[in-house]
Amino acid sequence: MKDLSKDLEQRKASHLYRRRRVSDSPQQIEMQIDSHKVISFCSNDYLGLANHPALKQAFIKGIEQYGTGSGAAHLINGHCRAHHQLEISLAEFTGYPRALLFSTGYMANLGVAQAVLGKGDSVLADRLNHASLIDGGLLSGARLMRYQHRDYAELADKLATRNSGEKLVMSDAVFSMDGDIADTTTLAQLCKQHDAHLMLDDAHGFGVLGEHGAGILSHSHIDPGEVPIYIATLGKAVGTAGAFVAGSKDLIETLIQQARTYIYTTAQPPAIAVATLESLRIIQHEPQHREQLHNNIAYFRQCAQQASLAISDSETAIQPIIIGDVEKTVAISQQLFDQGFHVTAIRPPTVPRGTARLRITLSAAHQREHIEQLVTALHALI
Ligand SMILES: *Cc1c(COP(=O)(O)O)cnc(C)c1O
Repeated sequence: MKDLSKDLEQRKASHLYRRRRVSDSPQQIEMQIDSHKVISFCSNDYLGLANHPALKQAFIKGIEQYGTGSGAAHLINGHCRAHHQLEISLAEFTGYPRALLFSTGYMANLGVAQAVLGKGDSVLADRLNHASLIDGGLLSGARLMRYQHRDYAELADKLATRNSGEKLVMSDAVFSMDGDIADTTTLAQLCKQHDAHLMLDDAHGFGVLGEHGAGILSHSHIDPGEVPIYIATLGKAVGTAGAFVAGSKDLIETLIQQARTYIYTTAQPPAIAVATLESLRIIQHEPQHREQLHNNIAYFRQCAQQASLAISDSETAIQPIIIGDVEKTVAISQQLFDQGFHVTAIRPPTVPRGTARLRITLSAAHQREHIEQLVTALHALI
């Protein structure tokens, strides 16, 4: 084993040491973190559903019906009616024939490529994809080729060089640290042209983009037939936990046979699936949460521009401010915390070197005053 303490000291010296803050409150805007009252601007709970009374009630009802643990993997006896019903609802909502529930998005992304690809195949991945997509590509045994962020000319060149084996193009739909959106129409066209399969990870789009919150496909008016593998997570806008893969009957049946991160893990507690079903109902029938989120995004951008903050092009809830220098980014994040704002510093290797940033995220639950106060604090510190 390497010298752990030396390694840790080195991390500290380069301001890359990661520490957890401890929260004593539910996931909401005003939180108690490290015994400090702060306004949170870093959660992925975009619609404010993680502490919603109706979801909590559904969760409790689910526990009363099913108890707490699922007891076993889906293929043993852990697959409950609530999981099954949730898969049917997710398929209907996203417009795919079938959907399969995974315990986390990370596991879904590790499982898919490994199940459908092998040696001799290729994975083509955007350089700014989420770590779980990269790890999924590596685990599959296929050749992993990465193209510059949203550089679809480079992707086309790389696709053209692969004449044998299956080709899978993997992309975040909304990039998790930048908030920009992949050009899914171009991706779908390129895949068709080069006989490749497209897999989109809609962790930050599902629930917030598109009609009724159905996600990136609805947002970009793309038919599910053009995106054979669709993945979204349930721990972000949906406010619960887990993830799903949507696709053809054959894809889902293949995952059930072959995806190791599906087969060899305990099913998520069924009560979570009961709460998730309630969340889907709210997402589909209460557009006001999504509208409020979009109002807040627009309001933040307007205030930030007036304060001459260097915001990026993002139109989503993820609004990074790139600082560049790691030490400076960490210092600003700490100063914000001391002033009562929780905004995390995102550093390499999560983002490329030289692009350390404050990752600000907005929620439907923010009030205008919260946004104004944050912008004033940022203006004074940057
Ligand atoms: C959060 C995230 C994941 C992982 O999902 P979990 O359910 O948190 O494991 C996967 N992909 C992207 C793009 C994400 O942002």
